[in-house]
Amino acid sequence: LLEALQIRKTFGQTEVLKGVDLQVRPGELVFLIGPSGSGKSTLLRCCNRLEEPTGGTLRLDGVDLLANTTDINQMRRKIGMVFQGFNLYPHLTAMGNVTLALRKVMKMTKAEAEARAMENLGLVGMAEKANSFPSQLSGGQQQRVGIARSLALEPMLILMDEPTSALDPELVDSVLEVIKSLRNRGMTMVIASHEMNFARSAADRVVFLENGLVVESGTAEQIFTNARHERTRQFLRQVR
Ligand code: ATP
Ligand code: MG
Repeated sequence: LLEALQIRKTFGQTEVLKGVDLQVRPGELVFLIGPSGSGKSTLLRCCNRLEEPTGGTLRLDGVDLLANTTDINQMRRKIGMVFQGFNLYPHLTAMGNVTLALRKVMKMTKAEAEARAMENLGLVGMAEKANSFPSQLSGGQQQRVGIARSLALEPMLILMDEPTSALDPELVDSVLEVIKSLRNRGMTMVIASHEMNFARSAADRVVFLENGLVVESGTAEQIFTNARHERTRQFLRQVR
């Protein structure tokens, strides 16, 4: 579904991505792991051209995302993005946050947008809080609303950058449960995360990045129990 090949990204003099391959099949949950500064966020941001890659090829569902002829704004709608912070509009309710994009981007009527929003708030267990404002929600609940907002646009793929790292530990599980349920519904996701236990239990594939290069990628089972590279084993020992 997503094919990122030999992606490079340079900021000034520093090459932050040095030719990274990331291939994601439909329905897969892929975890990006690696030390701080290894390039996980940059890679995710390159995948929807929030950062412009300085080299490589990028295809979503066969469409070349880097071609001049591609309407990147149209393609971006097919890629959901969930960040660490919750990025909800504080003056809008949960419902308002989810319907906003549906009305603006998808030009839905109010009734259509509200129906779609309720459906997606339901999927993340937030239907009863539809009329709450972000300030009335816990961090975990806000993050679930953020996921519902992304889902409502029916993306082909959702990229998540440390979706749980801003949460108090007791709130993390509710978000991880939502991610698991999306996976069971066949949603394709790429998640940069330090939640190694979660990666181990839920990931279809794990990609270990260091210094802008993929050291190793494999099934969760293989990476966590039988990594080929000493560097991978060392990293996993440190973060455990
Ligand atoms: P973390 O686990 O801490 O989130 P990360 O793997 O997501 O780390 P990135 O945020 O992708 O790492 O950063 C990779 C490298 O790129 C870092 O050395 C960072 O300083 C550098 N970098 C990221 N964005 C920029 C930018 N806009 N300008 C210059 N350097 C940048
Ligand atoms: Mg990051």
